[in-house]
Amino acid sequence: MSRKGQSTQQLNNSTIQQHKWAYMSLKIFLNDHLVDKNDATVSVFDHGLLYGDGVFEGIRSYDGLVFKLKEHLDRLFESAHTLMLEIPMPKDALEKAVILTLKANGLKDAYIRLVVTRGSGDLGLDPRKCKKATLFIIADKIALYPRDYYEKGLKIATVPTVRNHPEALNPQLKTLNYLNNILAKIEATNAGVDEAILLNAQGHVTECTGENIFYVDGKKLVTPPPYVGILKGITRDTVMRLGAEAGLDVSEEVFTRHDLYTADEVFLTGTAAEIVPVVRIDNRMIGSGKPGKITLALTRAFHKVTSKEGVRIR
Ligand code: PMP
Repeated sequence: MSRKGQSTQQLNNSTIQQHKWAYMSLKIFLNDHLVDKNDATVSVFDHGLLYGDGVFEGIRSYDGLVFKLKEHLDRLFESAHTLMLEIPMPKDALEKAVILTLKANGLKDAYIRLVVTRGSGDLGLDPRKCKKATLFIIADKIALYPRDYYEKGLKIATVPTVRNHPEALNPQLKTLNYLNNILAKIEATNAGVDEAILLNAQGHVTECTGENIFYVDGKKLVTPPPYVGILKGITRDTVMRLGAEAGLDVSEEVFTRHDLYTADEVFLTGTAAEIVPVVRIDNRMIGSGKPGKITLALTRAFHKVTSKEGVRIR
């Protein structure tokens, strides 16, 4: 025995395994089968690339459990329906393809990116010229946010770019057209903060570039309603449920920056970020200036749920 009860043979096996993963190329699910990362290419005539014409989802698996897979697929199909984009595979086959991609890469804790584009067409924007959608699934190791984000909290700021108007490009659609969010992210970076809050054209708070926003005021837990211009986050839904279960008075309300500045606690939610405390907004300290008690309690409850609920990879 060489290390804490591990035999040399076991150590050698695990070293070999690690080397195998290091050299094995990532497998990508492309249209209907797995290919090596280097062979996972799409046409320069794909309208996903030429026009941002397509939809996507970001999904996460925790120790072999894919969290809210059905909800992510439902949202993907809903976005595609509004864009009149036909997803080239039924939902149950797509669910199997996600699991297959995770298994092929030996991943248990992963971030999964599922993308469906309009497919190849000509140089005009008419989607009727694109005969078949392109579908791909990338599953990779999850790039965790720095621990500081969760322990110290984020400094964020409102930015000049307003959230897309719902009657122009509804933020409820998770499309490949993310320039509204990218412009806001650039403005946040230029302002030296971690994240941007986008307001809508009426000055109401909507969301951040890749996360929904919540505030806590006493026993009240508040987040904006979808019609102000947000993506209806799947983490947001879970946090609203957990808040209600914890006895909080949960509501969707239209609010302004003032409500955030004067809140007891503010936090953001998203698949990649999970629940992140916010301690400063536009240079105003929020609450005590430290991650709040309710934010931390919801985070613990959220981790409990992700360790139990989900579609098992088998
Ligand atoms: N808003 C935007 C703009 C997003 O892109 C995302 C997803 N990254 C979210 C909110 C959070 O949604 P979810 O909890 O479903 O990941």
